[in-house]
Order: sequence, then structure tokens, then C-alpha cells
Amino acid sequence: AQEQYAALRDLPAQALCGSTVALTMNAGLMADLPSLAGSGAEGVGLYRTELQFLVRSKVPRRAEQAALYSRILDSGLGKRVVFRTLDIGSDKVLPYMRRTDEPNPALGWRAIRLGLDRRGVMRMQVQSLLRGANGRSLAVMFPMVAQFDEFVTARDLVLKEVEREQSMGHTIPEKLEIGAMLETPSLAFAPDAFFEMVDFLSIGGNDLKQFFFAADRENERVRRRYDTLNVSYLTFIAQIVDRCNRHKTPVSFCGEDAGKPVEALCFAAMGLRSLSMRPASIGPIKHLLRQCDLSEVRTIIDAACASGAQSVRPAVEGWLTERGI
Ligand code: PEP
Ligand code: MG
Repeated sequence: AQEQYAALRDLPAQALCGSTVALTMNAGLMADLPSLAGSGAEGVGLYRTELQFLVRSKVPRRAEQAALYSRILDSGLGKRVVFRTLDIGSDKVLPYMRRTDEPNPALGWRAIRLGLDRRGVMRMQVQSLLRGANGRSLAVMFPMVAQFDEFVTARDLVLKEVEREQSMGHTIPEKLEIGAMLETPSLAFAPDAFFEMVDFLSIGGNDLKQFFFAADRENERVRRRYDTLNVSYLTFIAQIVDRCNRHKTPVSFCGEDAGKPVEALCFAAMGLRSLSMRPASIGPIKHLLRQCDLSEVRTIIDAACASGAQSVRPAVEGWLTERGI
């Protein structure tokens, strides 16, 4: 199978109906970057910047951060890399950060909430990203945005830093995209103005699913209790995609579920045209997508939804089995 996937490396993930799905990879360490060439990923759809912070004994200085971002872009083969700003708190605790005792850390002081309250850390990271890009294209994405004004504030901070860099005579990115992760259900219902302003969205399914079902992703008792292909959840994903399409807001999905073949197929059938996953999943998912007609899959999904099924999984898996896929 490995050889089969290698043969597909330079081919698009084009389904039989003609639709093409962009497959990108998730990364978090410099060591992940060689997979960009090896897997045939079209770019890095999610670069988790907190990894550098998690492996240190103290906050990396601006020059260190900038050096890492620069090296990542150097090894990025000119492909798009989406840098997610620090996602600290909840499941990702910095060893040198004073632990705040929170009864519900997943619902607590984390990610952009922490960044907006500790503006200095966020500003330093944004400066590092701008310096690291050194005139190249830059895509920045904020995690755990729950309402419009959080994004506006974070975006203003980035634009202010761009101005500052320019006034200091530094080069600024030739192209700058400022996006957000959609990982709280509330953001799906943000005003139209949000969808107009945000340059792109990436659905963080790991968090979105835990909030959607109120089931802690860290709790073994409940984490697998609700199927990703549950009709309610899949319908919600489809509504997000439709809303983005209406506003021409580019949308992708970067949670771990995008790296599971049947899930990826269903997401594509619901309209997602960009999925970010661990590099090892790219071959198998491309292989599967190339054998399927997404509109046929959509018909199967719609029929399963209409039948009152709880999950579309049995129907989609049955359809695949019938076809010998
Ligand atoms: C997610 O929540 O789906 C996501 C991609 O981010 P993380 O797993 O780092 O929280
Ligand atoms: Mg998340």
C-alpha cells in the first residue's frame, strides 16, 4: 500500500465527480517539515506554534521564535504554511507558567483568551512571525475564537505590528492572511461581518466536537462516545461550510478527524474542499477520494439523515463495501 500511495504523491486528490480536495498537513516541530515533500501535502494547514513553547524551560525569546518561523518557511518548499498563534491552556500546559486552578480548563483561560489578556506575549509572537516571514507570504490563524470582537482585536494587533515593522524599515509580508479557527459552536453563528472580515477559517474538530457534544476530548469515558459522523454534527459542519461559501470565505478542516478516511470522505461530500491532517493520512485519503463520486456519497448521506439514523457511518461504509473500496 505504501508504494501505491507514493505513486499518488504528485497527483491531485480529485474525486470521480471532478471535485478536487486540497490535502495539507498538520505540523508542530521543525522535524515534521520533511514530510511536506514525502507526503505530497499541498502545504501546512496547521502549524501548532505552541510546541516550541512546550519543549522549553522558559518563553522563547523573539529572535528564537523568528528564527524557527523563518526556518519553517525555508523548508516549506514555497507552499503555504498556516501558523496558528499560541494555543496554551487546557490540554497544553506550559511547565513554566503558573498553573491557574480551573475547574474546567477546556472551557477556561486558554488560547486567544490568554493571548488577549497577556497582550505582550501575543505581540511578541506576531512580531516574530513578521520578522520570520521577512517579506514572504504569511498566514496567521487565531485559536479558540468564540466571538467576533476577539478576532477584531487580535487582527488589529497584527495590523498595528505590520505598521510598526514598516515604520522601522523592516520588510513586511508580500501577502498577509489573518484567519481564525472555528472550534467553538458560537463562532458558526457570528455575524456576517465576521465571515466578511476573516481571510480564512479552519474548523478545529477536536475542540469543536468536544464542545458540540459537551464531551471532554481528554476523558476516556466520553471521548469516543459520540460518532464524528453523527447526523447532528455532520449537519452542523455542512452549515458552516455553506455559510463560508456564501461569503466566499475559504474554509478547511484541521482536526484529527480529517485524517480518518471515511470521515474525510464525508467532509468532502458535505462540501469541504480543504483538509489538513497528519502526513501519513494523506496517501490513504487521496487514494479513497480518487475512487469516489462525492455527489453519490452526498446522496447516501442525505438518505441516511432523512431515515432518522443517528450516524451516517453504517450507510457510507456499506456503500464503500458494495463498491469493493
Ligand atoms: C482542534 O481543536 O481540532 C485543533 C486542530 O487544535 P488542537 O487539537 O491543537 O486543539
Ligand atoms: Mg483546538
